[in-house]
Amino acid sequence: MGFKSRARKRRGDTDEDKVTSEDGDSEEYEGKIRCDIIECDNWADKKIGGRKMAYDRAVEVWGVSGVSRKVRKVSLCKPCYRAWKKEKKNEPKEWASKAMGSSGNAPTSTPVRSFDQP
Ligand SMILES: [Zn+2]
Repeated sequence: MGFKSRARKRRGDTDEDKVTSEDGDSEEYEGKIRCDIIECDNWADKKIGGRKMAYDRAVEVWGVSGVSRKVRKVSLCKPCYRAWKKEKKNEPKEWASKAMGSSGNAPTSTPVRSFDQP
């Protein structure tokens, strides 16, 4: 009720509580931007390789429940961005296989596959 309880809530959310929960696998860097991937606890500052990415693109890899905030541009730490890139690479691209094996006489404007496969 009122601003008093609100102020109290805010005070309890300081970084002091989080000091004990460290994995120790990342360097002791203190950034300003947190990675927006829920299961990730890294910093996403540009200084250390963080990236901004459209929310929709992040959702394609982590899903709606994997991204902590619904903002137009989410922040990704370096490892997450690399993971995203890797995911995207593994995705089969229809036009890529076509370009690899074609002898050059297939017209590109005609779709080869139909969307209604059995
Ligand atoms: Zn991350």
